[in-house]
Amino acid sequence: MSQPRIAIIGAGIAGLACGRALRLQRARVTLFEKSRSLGGRLATRKWEDQVVDHGAPWFSLTDAGLRQDWSRLLPDGLLPMTVPMRDSATGEALVEPDGGRWYLPAGNNRLGKALAEGLKIRMEHVVENPPVAQGNQWRLGDEAYDAVIFTAPWPQTRRLLEPWFPSGEALEPRYRRTLTAFFAYEGDPSGPSAEWSALQHEPGHACLEHSICENHKTTRVPPGRTVIVAHAPAAFSDAHFEDSPDDWAALMEPAVRAAWELSSPPVAVFTHRWGFSTVTQTFATPPSLPRGLLIAGDALTGSAVEAAARSGLHAAHAALRLF
Ligand SMILES: Cc1cc2nc3c(=O)[nH]c(=O)nc-3n(C[C@H](O)[C@H](O)[C@H](O)COP(=O)(O)OP(=O)(O)OC[C@H]3O[C@@H](n4cnc5c(N)ncnc54)[C@H](O)[C@@H]3O)c2cc1C
Repeated sequence: MSQPRIAIIGAGIAGLACGRALRLQRARVTLFEKSRSLGGRLATRKWEDQVVDHGAPWFSLTDAGLRQDWSRLLPDGLLPMTVPMRDSATGEALVEPDGGRWYLPAGNNRLGKALAEGLKIRMEHVVENPPVAQGNQWRLGDEAYDAVIFTAPWPQTRRLLEPWFPSGEALEPRYRRTLTAFFAYEGDPSGPSAEWSALQHEPGHACLEHSICENHKTTRVPPGRTVIVAHAPAAFSDAHFEDSPDDWAALMEPAVRAAWELSSPPVAVFTHRWGFSTVTQTFATPPSLPRGLLIAGDALTGSAVEAAARSGLHAAHAALRLF
């Protein structure tokens, strides 16, 4: 088959990396994305005069090929974070993993936008029903495709694969929830916020797991402001997920101020709830699906932007091998 028609559900990094690889091999690709933005959990918000990553703050790039490809795709902006992170339990700097922590000065979601270049994407389109077999193809909505690739977090994908997963299995991937709040304080970074790019809070901390000072990302925060993004631990997130964001942000803020030794209350606050933030259990073995249906994304790999991208590339090659 010269130009297979392939549908991809989800325009996060797995779906976009998959779509780009397929397009470069001349497949006819359509992506469906339920939200208004590209990049999924590699998410950025323009907030007043600040640009804030409220999903993955940075990502590894251990794969030389991927690093080369993304550097070409992002000529102005793929930088390593050089300011260290602090382990609050020991007070020491955390050792960087191989491949380091990379970010995009204009906002991490720019990676999604760059990968999306030239792709046909139906934004704000929720795929609600499983594909239906039609000869050698799969009908999705009013179109038929030679293959359908699912990249949403597993609980969302699972609903679309209900015919092949009639009952919940204990070994299916699980995701945790995360409450995220960002706080803007008057004044330039000083003390810990001048010294550290992030704090990994003590295990068992009541309301903070990680917090990140966005000022250390080039051009993100104008002078005279300090912006901290705080992610809550799973227990706190579960306990307060349905509460008013004002309430749980008000619990997190004094802890942020204390940890970063900031002297006065924030001048602005913003919140976000992640229903599926990171994977706590991946597939032990990938599920087997009928020919033409494939899965990619962090349900297979564990939560990491680089791993999600690689799983998207893997799914693209697996799909192409079918034709
Ligand atoms: C708070 C937080 C911190 C993190 N920290 C890091 C970190 O430091 N380093 C790191 O590498 N990774 C980190 N991660 C994990 C990383 O962001 C993810 O593993 C990765 O982005 C997952 O990409 P994906 O494409 O698999 O899924 P997603 O990004 O979730 O993309 C799936 C897409 O599918 C769409 N979708 C869902 N259902 C449907 C439907 N029915 N129809 C159409 N579209 C649908 C969604 O809107 C979404 O855009 C973090 C994540 C979070 C939330």
